[in-house]
Amino acid sequence: MHTNYCKDLKSVYLHIMNAFDHDTVVPYKDSVLSKKKQVESMFDNIAGKYDFLNRFLSAGIDVRWRKKALSQLKANAPKKLLDVATGTADVAILAQAFLNTEQIIGIDISDGMMEVGRKKIHEAGLSKFITLQNGDSEDIQFADNTFDAVTVSFGVRNFQDLEKGLSEINRVLKPSGKLVVLEFSKPSHPIIKVIYSLYMKVITPNLGKIFSKNKQAYAYLDESIQKFPEGQKFIDVLERVGFKNNYSKKLSFGICSIYCGEK
Ligand code: SAM
Repeated sequence: MHTNYCKDLKSVYLHIMNAFDHDTVVPYKDSVLSKKKQVESMFDNIAGKYDFLNRFLSAGIDVRWRKKALSQLKANAPKKLLDVATGTADVAILAQAFLNTEQIIGIDISDGMMEVGRKKIHEAGLSKFITLQNGDSEDIQFADNTFDAVTVSFGVRNFQDLEKGLSEINRVLKPSGKLVVLEFSKPSHPIIKVIYSLYMKVITPNLGKIFSKNKQAYAYLDESIQKFPEGQKFIDVLERVGFKNNYSKKLSFGICSIYCGEK
């Protein structure tokens, strides 16, 4: 009774506090569909070109960022890992090699992205260890206290309801389980800021248009980064939904950040 009351109070509080600009940033401005549906359709559309564009636009640095994020889990040696917003399974595949996990489950709302991911898992001979299934971060279909660790790379920015997603992740983590989030952020150095802005506002959307025929997806990338509650604001959200020992690390002049927290 008391636990339920506390849970209800917490969800009312989270509902009132859920006022991030980024929750309402959508890929297709004229669409009447929810952010979630638009994000799903956008990633289904660019799935075939996603990996190529990632490597190309980041000059391969994203692989280093992913490894750095996974290194935050080395000491925990998780046996059962959930990769939320797994996309084409880059982090799930790296995690298997890097952390020697027994089981990795990747969930995502885009079947198109996971189709590419499943092919990669099969080719890497990892189907025994990694499975991908359709699943929403805001309504995770696993019991409380299931996973030793959860990873989300470049996913939280796309959530329709950030706090709900993080709160669900907290629920499925085992006590002391660790969350590692990798996400874009904005550089603070004035010169890097100018170069970055030119790159994100002009170069990225146009290259995205040429290669994926989807300029909106890459314009959305910039807008969603601008509005995302990064740094201390994100740590505050982690705290609000129940994470402890939270910390963040900036990578590559702050273009990217790692956030970690424990249940
Ligand atoms: N994690 C992969 C990576 O590091 O390359 C994919 C990142 S991709 C930029 C973002 C992914 O988040 C997409 O595949 C999208 O479908 C997924 N996504 C967005 N909202 C989601 C949600 N509510 N639940 C699960 N996946 C979601």
